[in-house]
Amino acid sequence: MFFQNTEDTICAISTPAGAGAIALIRVSGDKALSIVSSLFSKNLLQVASHTAHFGRIKNQIEILDEVVVTVFKGPHSFTGEDLVEISCHGSRYIQTELVNLIISNGARAAGPGEFSLRAFLHKKMDLSQTEAIADLIAANSRAAHKLAMNQMRGGFANELQNVRANLLEFAALIELELDFSQEDVEFADRTQLRQLVANMIERISKLSDSFRIGNVIKNGVPVAIIGAPNAGKSTLLNALLNEDKAIVSEIPGTTRDVIEDVMLIDGVEFRFIDTAGIRETSDRIEILGIERSFEQIRKSSIILLLFDITTEKEDKILERIQQFRNQSVSADQALIPVFNKQDESSEENFKKLKDSGVFISAKTKENLNDLKQQILKAAGDFSDTQNSLIVTNARHYELLCKCLISLERIQLGLQDNLPGDLLSQDIRETIHYLGEITGEITGDEILGAIFSSFCIGK
Ligand code: GDP
Repeated sequence: MFFQNTEDTICAISTPAGAGAIALIRVSGDKALSIVSSLFSKNLLQVASHTAHFGRIKNQIEILDEVVVTVFKGPHSFTGEDLVEISCHGSRYIQTELVNLIISNGARAAGPGEFSLRAFLHKKMDLSQTEAIADLIAANSRAAHKLAMNQMRGGFANELQNVRANLLEFAALIELELDFSQEDVEFADRTQLRQLVANMIERISKLSDSFRIGNVIKNGVPVAIIGAPNAGKSTLLNALLNEDKAIVSEIPGTTRDVIEDVMLIDGVEFRFIDTAGIRETSDRIEILGIERSFEQIRKSSIILLLFDITTEKEDKILERIQQFRNQSVSADQALIPVFNKQDESSEENFKKLKDSGVFISAKTKENLNDLKQQILKAAGDFSDTQNSLIVTNARHYELLCKCLISLERIQLGLQDNLPGDLLSQDIRETIHYLGEITGEITGDEILGAIFSSFCIGK
């Protein structure tokens, strides 16, 4: 077992390291109440669940702190066990002393994610919901927050549990047929099974397709800003981020490094990458920068291709956009041509470009809002993320892909009238993968990998 024990009483600081105004210490397990009660100025053994109590915590020598103790009695607690939360003052000394005191009175220091593991083991949440807690804590945009909340409330796990139960019934019926193999009977209705499998393939394909959008929402949509030296890339990045992060200069080729920063547009997180100017060069440092630019372009979902309209001719610009689109943009990337320095050259001079991109002035910030709206549009329609189920977790995505492969095998097997024992093998495999997502089937190794990536106290 990768966790030492799942029955004893554990304790950890749940707030971030360092000194805040207050800190929260969690104690969970059979002895949580008796341990904290023995240190507290009030007897907690008989108090009602979900109550908070103000009092003092003492060690052998002195009063350590005045605290508020909140009592949650199992099974009606986050972990499903008796859970006590102590809100103490945020001094690091108090926090450490308090934890040591609780440990010396019979608790054990919790490992990473151990409170969440217990919530999972006591069936307070399925595995994908537990994973959503980690996402919720890490969420730093409205869209990512929505997705994590959605998943924490049950998300697609409920649906997967239902189809898994249906498949289990079919597997049982088909396996029953095997016991009567001499008699050529069919307990499992093949038409119904075919229908179920077809529905599942449709649904699971949608879910696995949603990973692309889920992943960018969770990690931020990568946007590359590219263009010739002096086109205004750094100025644009600064204008978007509203700070002087990149070095702006009038000597071509000064932005040698890839600069990355994040910003929120309408609650969606974008990661902006300002790349070294793309042009032919013999300067070694610049070559490195340019190679990195191509790498960044490949990794981006959205590419802003920037032109300086005070120095470039419109036919040439159109030609370059077309060339870039053909050579460097893949089907799942969005290209937004941006015509910069509008303040020095009227849009009227560039009628041919009118429908090919956005005119802006990075310097005067003219039309930046239009550009932001274009970027938001290019990222996809996030407005519906609250209602549709979106996969954000790479582990779930991988398992859904495996599910699809085995479901397609069942479908083919049904078409070819495969014998029951072979069908049942594929059905069992699908059931297994579905169970791994929700945690109905999990080995210690999988649990270990998931929970050890959590912080201590979570
Ligand atoms: P980069 O090499 O593409 O990163 O270009 P910079 O952002 O360093 O800008 C090059 C020069 O163009 C600087 O002198 C900027 O002040 C100037 N510049 C950038 N954007 C604009 C703009 O919208 N209008 C005008 N007039 N100048 C700009």
